[in-house]
Amino acid sequence: MKAILYHGKHDFRFSDTADPTLGAETDAIVRVSRAAICGSDLHLWHGGLPESPNTRPGFTVGHEFLGVVDEVGPGVRSVRKGDRVLASCTAGCGTCTACRRGVFSGCLVMTQGPGAGNIFGFGHGLQGGQAEAARVPFADANLFKIPDSISDEQALFLTDILPTGYMGADLAEVSPGDTVVVFGCGPVGTFAQMCARLCGAARVIAVDPDEQRLERARKSGCDVVNPTKTNLVEFVLGCTGGLGADATIEAVGRGDLITQSALVTRAGGRVAVIGVVAEPMVQLPWILFFMKNIALRTGLVNPQVHIPRLLPLIERGRIDPASIITHRLPLSQGVRGYEIFAGHQDNVLKVVLEA
Ligand SMILES: [Zn+2]
Ligand SMILES: [Zn+2]
Repeated sequence: MKAILYHGKHDFRFSDTADPTLGAETDAIVRVSRAAICGSDLHLWHGGLPESPNTRPGFTVGHEFLGVVDEVGPGVRSVRKGDRVLASCTAGCGTCTACRRGVFSGCLVMTQGPGAGNIFGFGHGLQGGQAEAARVPFADANLFKIPDSISDEQALFLTDILPTGYMGADLAEVSPGDTVVVFGCGPVGTFAQMCARLCGAARVIAVDPDEQRLERARKSGCDVVNPTKTNLVEFVLGCTGGLGADATIEAVGRGDLITQSALVTRAGGRVAVIGVVAEPMVQLPWILFFMKNIALRTGLVNPQVHIPRLLPLIERGRIDPASIITHRLPLSQGVRGYEIFAGHQDNVLKVVLEA
């Protein structure tokens, strides 16, 4: 089959690779119809993945994909050949003590042993979904049927970034009447803003240096701040009577923005970090978090937990995830998609690849 393969920094290739096959009786093979390029894929694109025996070049990338079930092992009960399904970007076994507590990302089965990895497409064992087909382990835990009333494009972001955005609002305990600061107006930031409003935020302050992204946030109902032009701390204190925001969501993945989060959040407020901070060590103004009684929470998303909540909201038209799509390309032009997304070209927000 054809797939987008990682060969190194800025060197992804659309080429032939082995067809996926069932490796266990709980596996399923999904014939991919759509896949998306994620901000965290750009860590690979920019060379952020250290080469190791587990990350040899040549693996298939991509962790946001959906399609049609092509084959299931004899142990799969919840889906069958022909079902339209989406896959959770993190895979859990569904039955270990971590999964049973809803922490699929910490699955004791998927994360154990040499070469183990529970995220698709990062070279740690699970091949990615920017391909014509993908193997999904523990299909009963990680595949979700897509109702006929929802299009592929509306369902696609349930694989990762919509649950991630929702998790931001959830971890930050966004409640009715809150003022919420969201760092980042990229795809994840946009969904965090959407979900903060869904949770009752009275005011969402979107922060980004990109004016075109800010304009999009403004149109969706956010107050917007370009921190290169406006003093963000003064702005937030100014519109909260000197108090600060009730909740802050960091959706960029930069250590210094966690410090900024502490500065704009009120005493007793909550900070959620959902951006992927790839820096190995982050310096934090710990005493500020301490003195202001700010709760700081973070984590890898567990879409399996959030999909059942978010799916009906899409079905009923309460949220419109496909509205973030700016670019649609055939899978064969996936590398071009990376160039567009990584280069912030053409006012890009989200690139979808059609297989
Ligand atoms: Zn993603
Ligand atoms: Zn598990």
